[in-house]
Order: sequence, then C-alpha cells, then structure tokens
Amino acid sequence: MALIEDVEAILSYGNICDHCLGRFFGKRSFALSNDERGGALRTAHYLVTNRPFKPQEGPCWVCNDIFRDIDLWAGRVARATEGIEFDTFLIGTRVPPLMAESEEMVWSDLSLQDTEPLKSEMNREVGKAVSVLTGKSADLKNPDIVAILDISTGYVEIKITPVFFYGRYQKFERGIPQTHWNCRSCQGRGCESCNFTGKQYPDSVEELIGRPVIRAFDGENAVLHGSGREDIDARMIGTGRPFIMEVVSPKKRSVDLSALGESINHEASGRVSVSPLRMSRRDEVESIKSNKGYKKYRIMVEVDGTLSQIELESALEALQGVTIYQRTPQRVAHRRADKVRERRALEIGFAGIEDEKFIIEITGEAGLYIKELVSGDNGRTRPSLAEILGKPARVTSLDVVQVQGINNGE
Ligand SMILES: [Zn+2]
Ligand SMILES: [Zn+2]
Repeated sequence: MALIEDVEAILSYGNICDHCLGRFFGKRSFALSNDERGGALRTAHYLVTNRPFKPQEGPCWVCNDIFRDIDLWAGRVARATEGIEFDTFLIGTRVPPLMAESEEMVWSDLSLQDTEPLKSEMNREVGKAVSVLTGKSADLKNPDIVAILDISTGYVEIKITPVFFYGRYQKFERGIPQTHWNCRSCQGRGCESCNFTGKQYPDSVEELIGRPVIRAFDGENAVLHGSGREDIDARMIGTGRPFIMEVVSPKKRSVDLSALGESINHEASGRVSVSPLRMSRRDEVESIKSNKGYKKYRIMVEVDGTLSQIELESALEALQGVTIYQRTPQRVAHRRADKVRERRALEIGFAGIEDEKFIIEITGEAGLYIKELVSGDNGRTRPSLAEILGKPARVTSLDVVQVQGINNGE
C-alpha cells in the first residue's frame, strides 16, 4: 500500500508528532483533524507492518512540539489584544525558515501531493483556541485585527485594520490646505522657519477634522482622502467636498459618528465643518479619489480698464461649452507633468458685482483650472476670458460651491 509506504518513509526521518504526520496527508480527509489523522496512520502502519508500535518519543523533529503550545499562544493573543476593540480576527504565523524547510524537504523527497503547511494548521488551531478564549470570531476576508505569531521569539504582533468613514467637508477660511504639508525648508524634520512643527501651514482640513477623530477612535493617525482638492486660498462651501477619512490603527471601532461630527464642527468652528458621517470601506477610497463629477465655482474677477456688464456677458457666452486647452499652469508646473489638457466650462455666467469686481459662476468639468481660464496664464490656457476681452483679467477670490458626488447627487 502506497500510503503505508509513505508513512514508513516519514517515520524513518525521526520522531514526529501526530500533527506533523497527519499534515503530510492533510488534504486527503477533511473529516479528521491532522493529529487524529496522524494517530490513525501511526496505528494503521503498525497493523500493516506488524512492527513494534512506536509512539512519539522526544520532541518532533519538524515542529519541535509547537502544537502543545496552542493554548499558550491563544493566551498571548488574548493578552496582546487587551484594550483593543474588535469583533473579528485573523491569525498569521511567522514560521522559522528551518521549520518550513524541514517539512518541504519531506514533501519533495516523497513527492507528496496532499500536504498542508505547518503555518496553516497553526493559524487554524490557534484561531479556534482564541475564539473559545475571547468569544470573538475568525474572519479570513475582512478581520478587524490580524495577530501575527512569531514562533522564533514567542512574540505576538497585532495589526489593527483601519476604519474608514465618509462625509463632506466645508472650508470657510482661506489659507488652509486640504492635507498637511511638510515644511519646505526642512521637509518635516522641524526647523526654525516652521517653529519646529515640521509643517508649512499650522493647520489643514485633514488635521482639523482628524484631531477629534484620532481621539474618538484612539487611533494613531487620520488620513483624509478627498474627492479632488481646492486651492489653499479657495473656500469650499455649498455642498461641501466628499472625503473619506482613514483612521490608522484604531483601538476603538464602534464610535458614534453623529456625536463625532458634532465635536469636529464645534472644535473647528468657523474654519471647517463636516456633513453627517457614515461608515465606509477601503474600496470606496479609489472611487472617491477618481470622481469625475462636475464642480461649481463662484469667483470674483478683476479686469483692467473699463468693462460693461454686456461686454462681460458676451465674452462669457463665448467661453461656455467650448473646449478649453490648458497647458499645465505655471503655478503648479513644479509638481505636475507639463501637458495640455482639454476641459469644458459647461455653464458660465455673470452673477453680480461686488467691490467693483465681477462675480462669475462656473460649472466645470473635473480638472478645469479656473484661475487660468480667466487670466489665460500667459497664453498657456486658450481661449480665456482675458484673451476674449483683450484685457488682463484675474481671479481675486475663489469659492467652490458644489462638488458632484459619486452616486448621483449624494
Ligand atoms: Zn510536529
Ligand atoms: Zn521646517
């Protein structure tokens, strides 16, 4: 019998435990656990060969009897997760290379086909024991935490899965960047010019929202993923801009998002506010970042020389709906590739006069550069308002008033 011959060959390598013996045939019969299968094969081998029955003597040469320590490892996992809120977990095992090589040598020596790696039995058995001990359940796909067992050191490393939530933010104050910028002089290390904060700007939308978030989730950091971004000197009002916040390494997961929204709005009052928040997931981040929805702007424009409302309106009409060719603006050329993009201003219209400046509302395709659409950026954007008027024109203030969401209207 081939099976018994394989068992015979395996036993000749040295003392081996039932777990490791059974695992060499791990994918043959799922009705038995590895150690049950190993014990049965040991007995069958004895019955067939009628040679003296040899129970395991001394430590297993493959695993060094690691499977006697299942409860010990489960206890280590339970202790390492104290103070961390989670419902689901996944166990991972870092197996010492020598241990993995031992069993792989037998697989290839004997051309075994139905083997299971030590790592996977360890993950499963410790997982069951952790379930019993903590009452939490294992989740292979989307666990709240991953516990990595380091066999060489006896140490358990816990990785906490980030939490994601969705909302829209408004920014009422000019001069706040969307995300934090490292100081240009020191690249974030801290120097005199940034007062040793490492930051170019004292605050960002990300940090104004993030501070109460980090506190509420007891997290390490909070990263803002925006659906596009407005210029630092632009306000973001009206509908607000969709964003997803990624809370890094949160020790709490069940946070009351409406109370959190209130404390963000209270702390950042007058500067930034958020609309009602809801839970989200990592896979929503990409769709929100690549959102190609329209944006609506309200801008104040200064034109050199005299200009009537009628002249302005007919110039705006000439810009509406036509293809605008925009070479990467000079002001962002240092950080963006130099290329020409084609965008349209879907709607553009006169909306009033304030402080002798014209107020204009523009609905544009995602990525349309508004300041350059007005100024022409020394001929890099064509056509432009300045070009049509034949007079220099510039944006003196810019508000984003609407950002279309990813799911029509939301
Ligand atoms: Zn073993
Ligand atoms: Zn600095």
